[in-house]
Amino acid sequence: KQGAARVLYWFRTDLRLHDSPALQAALDLKPAALFPVWCWDPNYVYKHRVGINRFRFLLESMQVLSDQITNTQANSQLLVVRGEPTELLPELWKRWKITHLVIEKDPSAYGRRRDALIKEAAAKSKVEIVAVQGHHLYDPEDVVKRNKGKPTMAISTLQKIVADIGDVPKPLDAPKDLPLPQPEGSKTAKLPDLLSELAKSLEGLPHYTGKGREGPADVDLNSATLGGQRDGELTCYDTLNGDASSLFSVPTLASLGMDASKVRDTIKGGEVEALKKLGNICKDAEYVATFAKPKTSPGQDASDPSTTLLSPYLKFGCLSVRKLWWDAEEAKKKYKGGSKTAPPENLNGQLLFRDMYACAEHAIGDAFNQVRGNSVCRYMDWYLPTVYDKDGQAIMPRPPGDEVSEARLSAYKMGQTGFPWIDALMRQLRLEGWMHHLGRHSVAAFLTRGQCWISWERGAEIFDEYLIDWDPCSNPGNWMWLSCSAFFTQYFRLYGLATFPAKYDKTGALVRKYCPELSKFPDKYIYEPFNAPIEVQKKAGCIVGRDYPFPMLDEKETKTENMQRIKACYQLGLFGDSKEVLEGKAEAV
Ligand code: FAD
Repeated sequence: KQGAARVLYWFRTDLRLHDSPALQAALDLKPAALFPVWCWDPNYVYKHRVGINRFRFLLESMQVLSDQITNTQANSQLLVVRGEPTELLPELWKRWKITHLVIEKDPSAYGRRRDALIKEAAAKSKVEIVAVQGHHLYDPEDVVKRNKGKPTMAISTLQKIVADIGDVPKPLDAPKDLPLPQPEGSKTAKLPDLLSELAKSLEGLPHYTGKGREGPADVDLNSATLGGQRDGELTCYDTLNGDASSLFSVPTLASLGMDASKVRDTIKGGEVEALKKLGNICKDAEYVATFAKPKTSPGQDASDPSTTLLSPYLKFGCLSVRKLWWDAEEAKKKYKGGSKTAPPENLNGQLLFRDMYACAEHAIGDAFNQVRGNSVCRYMDWYLPTVYDKDGQAIMPRPPGDEVSEARLSAYKMGQTGFPWIDALMRQLRLEGWMHHLGRHSVAAFLTRGQCWISWERGAEIFDEYLIDWDPCSNPGNWMWLSCSAFFTQYFRLYGLATFPAKYDKTGALVRKYCPELSKFPDKYIYEPFNAPIEVQKKAGCIVGRDYPFPMLDEKETKTENMQRIKACYQLGLFGDSKEVLEGKAEAV
């Protein structure tokens, strides 16, 4: 039976209808009207250098969600609105007579800050907020409380805590029906008429004049990048033409002023694709039952990945992590040999790592993303190349004498280091927005403690720009792990730039694909073309130093030097929140 509730359901980290405990909570209110809203949050474009591939995946996922809503309720769709949520949502709930705002909890530091402002505004308008956890296996807030406010710095710590909480909740079905997004007093039940009424109700708001407009829109995309090169001042032109359907429709890359022709859409967005992929993975009971992360190969690309490649779908919530957990459990039962692997190596174990980083970030807050002020991050005297703001002004100039690391960082980002394994991985990242976990190990160790001795913060920024699956907890968390700044301390364990990939693929398929200039080298030299005799280089049609760069550093020399440095840093025993670090007086080693 319908009640009096009028619900604004705000989609953020949950672009799906299946197993959405927050959406279920909205439906449990038996609302008279339900407004499914996506609100462009300027954080997507201002605070992060979101690359085109992540935008593409997001827009595809929004479009699929909108279609799914329409499939469930023919006269509804995702209502895409444009504007700063803390300003726009209060207007919406006033104009649409909203009684409840329902959201999936976003436990990241930024999400919590934004939602605290929203809560304040809601309290003033007497709008009730219902926030439900669904983005992780367990609620990070609950886990951190049980850990007495401390971050979970080891998987065993998390495992112990969640053993007390109990099983991961079982997934819920997608709703069979959704209430209409109907303005109060409206008599119409047809989508075009509803959209017109909604459009009318927004008249007078910036971007919703109803007359259409020209010129730069609210979303300034000057940070969007194409193929690794900053594309100048890409300004977003709002193509809203004033008609009601375009006012609320999902934008396209073109309508946002982005040219996607240079990125590969290897990984398609959306809930439908996510469920199809999950179904195929779990059909192969042996794959799931024998999944052991260290044995998966980083040499296989996204068209035939050795891991699930579900991370982009989990990031945007196109796939419920709880459904992945339980479907994997069911698949393992079907394997006649029984489950062969256990956490943390197996598939479910990977999901626990995701929760571990979310809970660690929840306890530390904003400082988790940097060294300074971060109580769990060891201080190392990394090179810290210049940080530029969006106008090209240096925010934090580099220390004197650090030109070399500046040049190394940019060669690294562009996949021009002269080490084919690193270059192939970085080009794959820029082009397709994804990289296998052990590939991420290789490039992260190389940039930091392995060879370049550049701060993990700069590497994490590059990942933030290009990864589709970029996550505010898993990204800094894993960078700290790989640089031995936190979570992991075995700094003597490194990845050979030729020996490590050769363990998985002696033929260098990944290099041949992403560094086509090297594709004709014989297997023997594919990871070390600089060691090939000139005759071999000529025959391969690629002269090192002319057609492909010389290695930008000496692998062995840097390895030995950095091993000494990291040892000394460990002895120094400073952390990001040490007085010396906060006062900028930490000793160089
Ligand atoms: P699978 O092996 O199939 O694992 C299934 C799921 O488990 C993944 O989709 C992911 O959600 C989770 N998972 C697996 N490994 C990890 C891990 N080590 N940490 C956290 N979650 C994990 N993952 C992100 O989702 N976002 C990031 O921004 C991110 N940045 C990383 C940065 C570095 C330097 C490194 C080394 C790893 C990073 N990872 C990140 C973790 C991991 O590499 C990816 O989650 C994984 O490669 C995604 O591919 P998959 O879906 O095939 O993984």
